[in-house]
Amino acid sequence: SRWGQGMIQVENLRKSFGGFHAVDGANLRIEEGTITALIGPNGAGKTTLFNVIAGVLKPSSGRVYMDGEDITGLPPHTLFGKGLLRTFQIAHEFSSMTVRENLMMVPGGQTGETLWRTWIDRRRIASEERALARKADEVLEFLTIDHLADERAGNLSGGQKKLLELGRTMMVDARIVFLDEVGAGVNRTLLNTIGDAIIRLNKERGYTFCVIEHDMDFIARLCDPVIVMAEGHVLAEGTIEEIKKNEQVIEAYLGT
Ligand code: ADP
Repeated sequence: SRWGQGMIQVENLRKSFGGFHAVDGANLRIEEGTITALIGPNGAGKTTLFNVIAGVLKPSSGRVYMDGEDITGLPPHTLFGKGLLRTFQIAHEFSSMTVRENLMMVPGGQTGETLWRTWIDRRRIASEERALARKADEVLEFLTIDHLADERAGNLSGGQKKLLELGRTMMVDARIVFLDEVGAGVNRTLLNTIGDAIIRLNKERGYTFCVIEHDMDFIARLCDPVIVMAEGHVLAEGTIEEIKKNEQVIEAYLGT
């Protein structure tokens, strides 16, 4: 990346809950253009690390940099503006909305500003909505779920929901996406579709990904490098082949 120090650089990051260090001095880099996997036994601190990087949680200490700029503790919407996104499960209140409507919500649709403008320029709103709907349909086509556009989000399968989460990142100009486990409870066919979408977003649109994942086949197909966390810090980093042979990693998994 521009500064030769990783697109994302995490330095001595710590997040404590009470006296417990969920993230305990983590140091890592995510290079631009990679699909980086973050793995490790349950309780290793992966989700907490994601949440700190994405501004959902404030760190207890340490720094996070993006392209060399200190972004530590910035709120999610500011990071969103820089193209740093963390995917989230579709919240309950959005499950009765359609898939297309869920996508149209993303670029800050429901702000006070929009409500105000509704008063002063209904026409412009209507044309913006049409543009948004078009964009949503393009996204759905890219993800090969255009047939689900009018389905309620709550009716989607686990894998289809993951595709919709990915779709939400495509409604804005994402640069790096932090993606929570896609493998859990998703059938092979859909998992391959999700994998294809991630690879295409990476290759065709230049997305960088950091994914928390447990499915080794999925990681082997998509991810390089693999970063292993245990007990709140980074234990090892390498290709999946290197990681599988690493004694410390094997021990960390056996220890749980
Ligand atoms: P992973 O994603 O690797 O499974 P987590 O980041 O979810 O790990 O959790 C790391 C540790 O921090 C776990 O022991 C978990 O119980 C603890 N933890 C996570 N969030 C909180 C919280 N809000 N309050 C207290 N403990 C937490």
